[in-house]
Amino acid sequence: MIKKFMQKLACFVTVAAIIFSGVASYSPLNVQAEELTADEIRDKIEQLKQDNEDRENKINNLEGSIAENEEKKQQVYDLITGQKALMDYYSNLAYMKNEEVNAKQTEIDGLQTDIDNKQLDIEQTQLEIENKEAENEANLEKFADIVRTMYTTSPGDIFSVLFGAGGFYTMTIGGEVLGNISEKNLEFMNQLKTDIATLESDKKQFETDKQLLEEDKKALEAEKVILEEKKQEYDSLYYNATSAADEYQKQYNQYQADIDADELEKNNLEYLNETNQAEIDAFEEKLKEIIQAASKPDRPHQEGEWIWPVPGRGYITTYFGWDSYLSRWHKGIDIGDAGINGDPIYCSKAGVVIVAEYTYIPGYSYGKYVVVDHGGGYTTTYAHMSGVEAYVGQEVAQGDILGYVGNTGYSFGPHLHFEVRINGEPVDPFNYVSIA
Ligand SMILES: [Zn+2]
Repeated sequence: MIKKFMQKLACFVTVAAIIFSGVASYSPLNVQAEELTADEIRDKIEQLKQDNEDRENKINNLEGSIAENEEKKQQVYDLITGQKALMDYYSNLAYMKNEEVNAKQTEIDGLQTDIDNKQLDIEQTQLEIENKEAENEANLEKFADIVRTMYTTSPGDIFSVLFGAGGFYTMTIGGEVLGNISEKNLEFMNQLKTDIATLESDKKQFETDKQLLEEDKKALEAEKVILEEKKQEYDSLYYNATSAADEYQKQYNQYQADIDADELEKNNLEYLNETNQAEIDAFEEKLKEIIQAASKPDRPHQEGEWIWPVPGRGYITTYFGWDSYLSRWHKGIDIGDAGINGDPIYCSKAGVVIVAEYTYIPGYSYGKYVVVDHGGGYTTTYAHMSGVEAYVGQEVAQGDILGYVGNTGYSFGPHLHFEVRINGEPVDPFNYVSIA
């Protein structure tokens, strides 16, 4: 009782150590399998395999999720590529439009220079007009003085008025001179008037030119505004593409983060499965050792009688040898009396249990079955049981109950499939047993 408790405690401590020490410190050496029976090891292996299968399912789900996210990530990547192409496209258009705006501005600046020059021409002409007018005014003043003096002074004085008081005593014909002077003066004034008129005309032309230039400039400025609006439109489209690309980039990053998280979880599960597999391998190795130790193949064959495994039953449905019905070699005999289902199956001869398969595996031919090693290379097999009452490594005596007749495995009705083998080769059981 205490020994059993200690075994269970050791087992618990081992499992606890595996669980709490974490995966990294795990080593198959931790398997204290010598403390466990073959059946307990078998249970552990089953449990570990089940755990691995559960993790395998999770891994499959993660792989599905990763593949899905990879696909979405690729789709979003294509969208980003598309938006980046648009960004390049609109950025180019905006650049070219800006060049056009600058060219237009240069044109406008050129016109402005022309306008400024025209303005200078106008001002220059205006100045000339004013000078000519001042000259004309002065001349008119002077002429008026002469005429006034002519009518108010003596002819002698006129000379002194026109030529000053000194020096011109050689002048003899005063009237002629006076006439001449007035005529010259008129001519001069007429010339001034003509000059002024020409200048006025020039100025007018300059003003017209300037006005035309200003109209041209206005037209160019309107064109520039249109170009600038177009550029703004391209800038705005570029901005839209940038925001879209940013948004897709965020989605891309999220998918990548999800994939990374899934990959991490998957790697952890795979690592757990690998270490678990190492534990399974260690347990299986231990199980093999137990079975080998139990079966003692070099143990001498125990002489003596073999007993019929199902006393009172003797209806043979299939004999040893070629089974023409199933077209295959039948390795034992099938005992299938009506009502045999659930009958106890007795061990034919003393030996050690080397196989006790509890698990019903659908499609597996033997179903639940037991193999007993009798030493000297002799074994007996009891198959298609409904239940097993033996465990691997168990020493069994002749007549011990190994299990019960059933219909598990590749079987078409309750029966016992009984085999005798020598060094693994099936032989006819009737060479050893007789119906009893
Ligand atoms: Zn059979």
